[in-house]
Amino acid sequence: MRLSLCCILIGLLPLACQTADPIRTAHEAITPELLAEHIQVLASDAFLGRAPASPGEEKTVTYLVEQFQTLGLRPGNGDRYTQEVPLSEITADPSSAQMEVRGRRGRLQFRYGDEAMFWTKRLVSDVSVTGSDMVFVGYGIVAPEYGWNDYAGVDVRGKTVVMLVNDPGYATGDSTLFTGRAMTYYGRWTYKFEEAARQGAAAALIIHETGPAGYPWAVVEGSWSGPQFTLVNAQQNRDRCAIEGWLTYEAAQRLFELAGQDLTQLKAAAARPGFQAVPLNLRFSASLRNTIREVRSQNVLALLPGRERPDEVVIYTAHWDHLGVDPSLPGDSIYNGALDNATGTAGLLALARAFTALPEPPARSVLFLAVTAEEQGLLGSAYYATHPVFPPEKTVAVLNMDGLNVLGPMRDVTVIGYGLSELDDYAAAAAEAQGRYLRPDPEPEKGYYYRSDHFSFARVGIPALYLDAGIDHVTHGSEWTLARRAEYVERHYHKPSDEYDPAWDLRGAVEDLRLFFDIGYRLANGTDFPNWREGTPFRALRDRQRAQATAPPTTP
Ligand SMILES: [Zn+2]
Repeated sequence: MRLSLCCILIGLLPLACQTADPIRTAHEAITPELLAEHIQVLASDAFLGRAPASPGEEKTVTYLVEQFQTLGLRPGNGDRYTQEVPLSEITADPSSAQMEVRGRRGRLQFRYGDEAMFWTKRLVSDVSVTGSDMVFVGYGIVAPEYGWNDYAGVDVRGKTVVMLVNDPGYATGDSTLFTGRAMTYYGRWTYKFEEAARQGAAAALIIHETGPAGYPWAVVEGSWSGPQFTLVNAQQNRDRCAIEGWLTYEAAQRLFELAGQDLTQLKAAAARPGFQAVPLNLRFSASLRNTIREVRSQNVLALLPGRERPDEVVIYTAHWDHLGVDPSLPGDSIYNGALDNATGTAGLLALARAFTALPEPPARSVLFLAVTAEEQGLLGSAYYATHPVFPPEKTVAVLNMDGLNVLGPMRDVTVIGYGLSELDDYAAAAAEAQGRYLRPDPEPEKGYYYRSDHFSFARVGIPALYLDAGIDHVTHGSEWTLARRAEYVERHYHKPSDEYDPAWDLRGAVEDLRLFFDIGYRLANGTDFPNWREGTPFRALRDRQRAQATAPPTTP
């Protein structure tokens, strides 16, 4: 009614018509001032670095729930705005860590920390593997869609598998192997440990190399030192390998020498189709003591129920957590996580405001999901993905934000994992409407697609889009932006100095969020279920899921 009246008056009252445009109203709800306000609160010292299961969590969750309530959004989990995420905290005692390899020519010991990092995901206070036969399994990959099986013809039950990081496509640069230089899901350590467990291995070790891993040994050592949060399954994680770990490349070279093998040659062999696993005729032993603590954290969920098909949902995600406080640090000990990820969380609140500014909700539901424990391995999102409120087959898409653009307007926007799903087309259309363009991930070999929360959803089949800030700055160009980004990584990434800076130019973030809005708005008003592209790792799973969802009911 109002629309047709508007059309009649269009010549007379162009301004009134424009303000009545629902999309424009929604866009205008997203402003730099709004973002700055939320970021300053979330990244303030009072929020104590937003560590899961800490007083900082209480403040963060309370703030988010209040904001969502004020916007008139409904609880996203039955009658609650939160979903409890049970986490176990496992802390290894470094002084108890032993690792030894024996062969016919002698034995080697590897120092915990600077030569080897290892741990257990099992909920046990003592873990050990003794005299387990070692097998080199190449890249440790079983990927039918790429015609690859490193475990073909070998039984590794009870054995210790040793493998390379990344995948054969990266190693060779051959675009016919996997996806060439771009890292696939199979290149990530998470996958490799899971596959080793599926194969029944007692222990799994990855050989670290800075290039193919995407980060230096210091990151491996730092990430797996101190308390580690983990999700616990019904088997208390006893279905995981007893020991998981990494070796430095130098340690691995010595290990292969002891076996009378040449690591360089085996690496080359592992990248060739038809590679066969190689028994090393070595026996592996390792042991470790842990202390275990059970804690509870929260995902925050707010729902805008759909007008016509409320059972179908588009999900926006951002992780609210960061690294908390490290009292051992001299000076500033609070990891404020302003960019990572107070910005994304502020973006989630801004999108919630935009959708609630619409005169009526979209046809499908929209869920705003702020997840916990991303920094500990995407745990909050993994928990939701495996304990979903909306079933995966009814979840249209996930749109994830992790670190917004604080450098000002850009001509481009980066799609991490470009080419994986049809959501790229939605992003391209939305960018074009803004007079902007999409840029594929400039460093696909680093596997960033597998390193934030959208990936937890991809793993259960749901198409997931991860947009990152562009680099083609409207006034300063790309080089300037890249220099600023490098500076952030060097000085502030995962450091207490990741703080809100009044000099940030949030106009680019506003544009990106309006683009995010447009994608979600179109999905939420459509009937399409965009899919993964043909030949990508999650396509088969999604096809099965959707086939079940659309199958006619069987007669009893
Ligand atoms: Zn983050």
